[in-house]
Amino acid sequence: MSTEPAPVTSGHDLTARLDDLRREYADLQARGLKLDLTRGKPSAEQLDLAEPMLALPGEGVHIAEDGTDTRNYGGLAGLPELRRIFAELLGVPTEQLLAQGNASLTLMYDTVVQALLFGVPGSERPWSREEQITFVCPVPGYDRHFAICEELGIRMVTVPMTPDGPDAEAVAALVADDPTVKGLWAVPTYANPDGSVVSEAVARRLVSMPTAAPDFRIFWDNAYAVHHLTEHEAKSANAIDLAAEAGNPDRVLMYASTSKITFAGSGVAFFASSPANVSWFTRHLGIRSIGPDKVNHLRHAMFFRDAEGVRAHMRKHREVLAPKFGAVVDILDERLGDTGVATWTRPDGGYFVSVDVVPGTASRVVQLAKEAGIALTPAGATYPYGRDPHDRNIRLAPSMPPLDEVRVAMDGVATCILLAAAEAASA
Ligand code: PMP
Repeated sequence: MSTEPAPVTSGHDLTARLDDLRREYADLQARGLKLDLTRGKPSAEQLDLAEPMLALPGEGVHIAEDGTDTRNYGGLAGLPELRRIFAELLGVPTEQLLAQGNASLTLMYDTVVQALLFGVPGSERPWSREEQITFVCPVPGYDRHFAICEELGIRMVTVPMTPDGPDAEAVAALVADDPTVKGLWAVPTYANPDGSVVSEAVARRLVSMPTAAPDFRIFWDNAYAVHHLTEHEAKSANAIDLAAEAGNPDRVLMYASTSKITFAGSGVAFFASSPANVSWFTRHLGIRSIGPDKVNHLRHAMFFRDAEGVRAHMRKHREVLAPKFGAVVDILDERLGDTGVATWTRPDGGYFVSVDVVPGTASRVVQLAKEAGIALTPAGATYPYGRDPHDRNIRLAPSMPPLDEVRVAMDGVATCILLAAAEAASA
């Protein structure tokens, strides 16, 4: 789904349009807009879909199916009835899936910190005792993955994303000889930001490639596993099974959450992996907590009932989200389609549209948009350290504003992309 760098327009004399575009931009500024396409948050309309959950479990309802009193301590692995629902959706055995607090990001952070402090199964020593630790970061990627590495002093090396996920040959080449490479970030379904889905072939390559480090791990962040925008419901490869088949059962750590299913601030996060990794993670988890919020687990299990309940709920999200994504892509097609100044993704799911503008102009586009009252994610955010070496990629997040605002904002963004390209062509 990701595309090649946009060639600077040929056959279209952007320089000749510069004055017109400047006038168009001045009109845009004069409108005094205040619009925001920055973060991929669910809108209030989406949050309302789960509103009935706030009345659950209800006074007097607190006993789980195994007799557990959810109000009390304990149950470190999370409530079995909720784990069963998400085990089916994520394609893992229930025993290998933990249900925890509200944020999968916390579980990822914990995993990396625990690896640094204690090592993972198969480590010769804690990762922090190695001279250097390196993670492979597919780009464009998720800024918060990169922030974890940056904060914890982990070196980041980049590989390109392809329409089938991370460039597996580039990853394989990096991990083959360098024992400092301990991790790979991957968003297997509807990646943030380019919307790509990891193909079976890429997944097989990643789980079977030889690695110089005996304790190499793939952080398989399945944040958008059920977040479809079309009838074509992509299913990402089952990396945990494939890794076991390939003789590397402990290679894959999977994460997911209901942040963009129920409530972004009070959902449930999940961790799944091999039995050895799950017991390693649980051992450290048990020092950190006596047990997760099982009342929230029960609330979720009652609300969904089963995996089909989650799928049906996600179809309601799709009804809200699909028109917004449609508007983004339609306006880009309409305004920029024959200009050659940008390429963009047409995601079948997830939360983002990734746009590549004329190299060297992404920051200018974001600045122009800001000065016209349209907030965009900072240029470079999709790269480690916030530095896009080509200053080319912009991540658009249309979920939060109402549809009419998405349209107005996107029309403005198209003007900014054209003006920045015309300025560059005239420089
Ligand atoms: N992973 C990815 C790829 C995301 O895009 C997001 C949300 N933007 C998260 C994780 C955060 O998930 P959570 O709310 O479960 O911490």
